[in-house]
Formats: sequence, structure tokens, C-alpha cells
Amino acid sequence: MITTLLLAAALAAQKPAPAAAPAYKDADRTKLLAALDAKAAHYGDLSRKVWEFSEVGYKEAKSAASLIAELKANGFDVQEGVAATPTAFVASWGSGKPIIGIMAEYDALPGLSQFDTPERKARVEGDPGHGCGHNLLGTASVAAAIAARDELMAKKLPGTIRLYGTPAEEGGGGKIYIARAGLMKDLDVMLSWHPADRNTASVGTTLANITAKFRYRGLAAHAAGAPDKGRSSLDAVMLAGMGIEFLREHVPQETRLHYIITRGGEAPNVVPAFAEMYAYARHSHMPTLDNVWERVLKIAEAGALATDTKLEVELVNAVYNTLPNESLAALTEKNLRRVGGVVYNAEERAFAGALAKSFAATEDPLPLGSEADIQPSRGGASSGSTDAGDVSWQVPMSQLSTATFVPGTPGHSWQSAACAGTSIGRKGMMVAAKTLALTAMDLFTDPAQVKAARDNYEKRRAGFEYRSRVPEGQKPPLNYRDNK
Ligand SMILES: [Zn+2]
Ligand SMILES: [Zn+2]
Repeated sequence: MITTLLLAAALAAQKPAPAAAPAYKDADRTKLLAALDAKAAHYGDLSRKVWEFSEVGYKEAKSAASLIAELKANGFDVQEGVAATPTAFVASWGSGKPIIGIMAEYDALPGLSQFDTPERKARVEGDPGHGCGHNLLGTASVAAAIAARDELMAKKLPGTIRLYGTPAEEGGGGKIYIARAGLMKDLDVMLSWHPADRNTASVGTTLANITAKFRYRGLAAHAAGAPDKGRSSLDAVMLAGMGIEFLREHVPQETRLHYIITRGGEAPNVVPAFAEMYAYARHSHMPTLDNVWERVLKIAEAGALATDTKLEVELVNAVYNTLPNESLAALTEKNLRRVGGVVYNAEERAFAGALAKSFAATEDPLPLGSEADIQPSRGGASSGSTDAGDVSWQVPMSQLSTATFVPGTPGHSWQSAACAGTSIGRKGMMVAAKTLALTAMDLFTDPAQVKAARDNYEKRRAGFEYRSRVPEGQKPPLNYRDNK
């Protein structure tokens, strides 16, 4: 008996380690790129469909369903409605390690409804529009995941490709809840990208961002007949706004403060009993932002104290700055250079020229034509914020931007919404899909790349313990776009 066991043990010891995946060859890359080119029109249609839906955060039912249908048709197992979020999903194909994730977003922005024209023209006045290009973002990520799946299947490679459907990037923090549900725990690498007016693999960070709605409740009364009986919630909002204006002078560099008044009363002759402010604070370093936020909260309380009204604070979202990963950026940049930038045809050049006339002057404009170039990876802090930041502190994450918008296009504008519905946006989208797919294949076929990404993550993190600023137990703010 013992001999048998020993023999079995000896045999097991001799059993060769599972064969390493064969290196991803140049001919493989050429084939993968050609396969994506062959499906460019199909994915273009899908992105256009999501562009036409233009659904805001946590309400992206039709957009999510379209992406899910595409993934299911390509053999992915899809868990729908994960993390108590109806429009969040995780699609998976393959088995074992490594596990490579790609993130898809598909929410639109309020008020940016726009035709695919180079002049301002809303499809439906006041409706949402894809001013951040998330129709392209979601579709390219799905396309890349399917391309990687086709390669894993054709070459019988070990590994799992996962597509994360992450709703409500624009202020709703969908990724925070998906990660919190443990759905990213076993990932080796997460790939991310974002539409932009240039092609670059980023080694930069973003701004951490904390947001809340301040709701004030006072007492209604006749504004002329009984003003002494009223307690104005609008006064409280305006005092809080004033406080934030004064705070601007006394905050660290790079701090950004913004707010809107989502409710300010119903009629001038009624003292407003209810008013609401929606406020943001941002900084590239979370502990610095924590201090700024504490002061914003004091200002909000001061508004209530001064007006004898009651304050209710709803923390809507809190996202981290992004943790860059040089190793993944280098790999992504290599693949981006292989893919190349976007080349406009005559019609697209005419559109770009007309659109560029509508841009306000900026300090650092990229010229028309630069969409064909690859910009070197940039460090520093971009002025945006993303819930991908929270992911980057939990798993090694790459960042990529491609030129889906005419160079010089401002983010969150009617111009970017217009580009996202045109062939200009779709060409940039395919640059992203190809770059993501090649990068995924490098990670599937070269364990050293996965290890380098992990090592860089550990070095960058330097022992910092990630702790979400969204309180434990908080549910996704599924109705954050409905102003009270
Ligand atoms: Zn975005
Ligand atoms: Zn955005």
C-alpha cells in the first residue's frame, strides 16, 4: 500500500507542469486584427444602437440587454443583475487562470441629446446623450472580449476572459458595488479604456471625487404676507453655495468644487420649504480630499444653522483617483502602436473641420490630423474622475484612450455626443477594441506579463489599504438621476 502511494507520489512529481501557452505570434496578431476589421460594421451598428438609446446611469436597461445579447450569442455565460444592480452584469468564457477582465460602460449624460451633426441640434430637447462616448466604450470592450474568446477557443488556451458590465459610471459608482460583491477578487488583470480626442496609453491618475445631495427642509409661508413664519430652505442652499465659493480660496492645489441646485422652491410667493443642492469635491489624493470634504460638510451644516432649517445629507458617490500601472501601460502602448491611429476619409475631414469651428480656444489644442498619431504615455493627473479608480486599487488595471472624438473636442459636450454617433467615433472605437484584444492575448500567453503587472501594482500601492469611501452596506443609488 505504502509502496503504491509512494509510486503515485513519485509519478505525480514527475508529471510535467501544464504546458505554458505558446507565445502569441505576429501572424496571430495580424489574424486577430483582420477578424475585428471584418466585424467593424457589426460593432458599429451595436454602438449606434446604444447611442440612440442614450440611457442614464442605472437606467441602461436596453443598452445592457443589447451588449448581453451579443455576448450570449458568442458563447459567454452571463450573470445578470449582479450587485443588487439591475443593469450590471458579468459575462465569462473559458476556465482557469489567468483571469483577464475588460470593463464596459454604457450610461449617457443628462441634457446632451444630439444628432450626429457638426452643429448643435438635439434629437430630443433636454434628453440624455452620449457626451462621454460610453456607447463606444461598452461596445469596444465587448468586441475585444469576443475577439479574445475566439482566440482562446481556436488555440485551446487555458484562461478565462470576463466582460464586466458596469453601469452608472457618470456619478453612480456602479463598479464600486460590483467589486464590493467580490466579483473582481480572483482577477489577474483588468483592462480599461475611455473615448478621447487622442490615442494614448495612460500612466496618469485621475481625481478622487466625493459627491452628495444636501437636502434642506424649512417651513412654507406666504412670502409677502407672513415671511416671519417661513424658514427658507433655498436660503440654506444659497448660503452653502456661498460657503463653497469662499472655500475655493483655501483648499490645496488641484481641488475642484462644483455644485448645482436641483430644487430651489416652487413659486416666488411661497417661502421654499424644500431645496436641494448636488455637490462634488475632487482632488488627486484621497486623504487630501477627505479633509476638503469634511469642510464641505461643515459648510452644508452652516447653511441649515443660519436659516433654522433641517439638513439631510445623502452621500451619492465616492471614487478613488486611479492607480497607474507602468507595466500594463507599456504593453498597451506597444499594441496601440501596432494598431495605429484613426484615418479620416474626406467626409469625416469635412465634419471634423466644421465641428472644430465650434470649439472655444484652449491652451493645448491638438491639431486636426493628430487622430492618426499615437501620443506618448502621459503621467500627472487628468481633471476627470472615474469609478475605475476604485478598481485600480484592487486589481492591476490598464488605461487606454483612443481618438473617438475630433481633436480638441471638450468632454461632456454636444460635440462629443455628436462624434460618438458618427463613423469618426466608430473608427476610434475599433482602435480600442483591437488594442484591448491584443493586450488580453499577450496576458493570456505570457505569464511574465501578468506577473509584471502584479509586481507594478504592489510597488505602486506601497502597502496602502484601499477602503471605499462609500459606507459599508450602502445600496447603489439607483435613482440618483431623479432629482427630488
Ligand atoms: Zn466617461
Ligand atoms: Zn464622463
